[in-house]
Formats: sequence, C-alpha cells, structure tokens
Amino acid sequence: MTQQVIGFHYTLKDNEGNEIDSSIGGTPLLFLEGSGQIIPGLESQIAGLSVGDKKSVEVKAAAGYGEIIEDLKITVQKTQFPEGQEVKVGDQFQVNEEANAPIFTVISIEEENVHIDGNHPMAGKDLTFDVEITEKREATADELSHGHAHGEGGHNH
Ligand code: ZN
Repeated sequence: MTQQVIGFHYTLKDNEGNEIDSSIGGTPLLFLEGSGQIIPGLESQIAGLSVGDKKSVEVKAAAGYGEIIEDLKITVQKTQFPEGQEVKVGDQFQVNEEANAPIFTVISIEEENVHIDGNHPMAGKDLTFDVEITEKREATADELSHGHAHGEGGHNH
C-alpha cells in the first residue's frame, strides 16, 4: 500500500477528562503516514479511518509521550546555575547542546535547592484524542522524499 497523507481535527484530553489541546476552530493537523510526525499510538488507530469518520482514541502513556522516568527528577544547587541568572519555577532549559537532550523544567525551589524535572510534560499521562478525519489522499513524490506532509496544517516551505 502506498503511504497516505491524513488530515484530522482532534481534541486531546488527559485521563481526568481535562482538555489539553484542540484543533477545533483552527486548521486540522496533516501528517504523512509512517513519518513519525504524530505519536505512534495515535497513528496506528486512525490510519484505517476514512474522511468523515469520528473516533475516540485512547493512547496509553507508553505509546504516547512515555512513562515518567524518576531518574530525570533531580535536585541541583542554585549555585550550579550561571551567576546572576534568576531561577524561577516554570523555567525551562537544556543541560547540554545535544539536539535530543531532555528539556528540564524547574518544579520548585527551596532555599539553595532547585528541583528540576526532565520528563516531557505529557509523560505518564494516558491520553484520549477525539478525532475526526478531514482529509485522506496518497502522498505526493515531494512529500515522500521530504518525509512530511505539505499544505495547510502540514509543512509549508
Ligand atoms: Zn517538504
């Protein structure tokens, strides 16, 4: 089978039913099948749908943004931050320059200790995507060679 380009609207909720994100009212998301543009647990469950189909797709943490890795929750000293840098809860930074190095978020600060967490903010969450398929077509040669979908909601360049 040839690779498909699939467009869909989604509303994303966590396991407590809180809405995290939604494309409703905006542009549907467009992706190239098999390109890793969307999380695997979602792609596998919508690849077989047709335009107009609606589905509530559950994605367990392990097939979504991964389980929480306790080793990425660490405590550092304020003195380890560059001198003069003010550290605030919610600050995000990378500890090294590698492209896929985890992004750490400052969770809390007590006196000289700074608690940081390098897990993805969505890690450990079981997710539900309410999905409606808006577009489905064969990928073009350009899309296949670039490895992503082109057009509104996809890659524009
Ligand atoms: Zn491209």
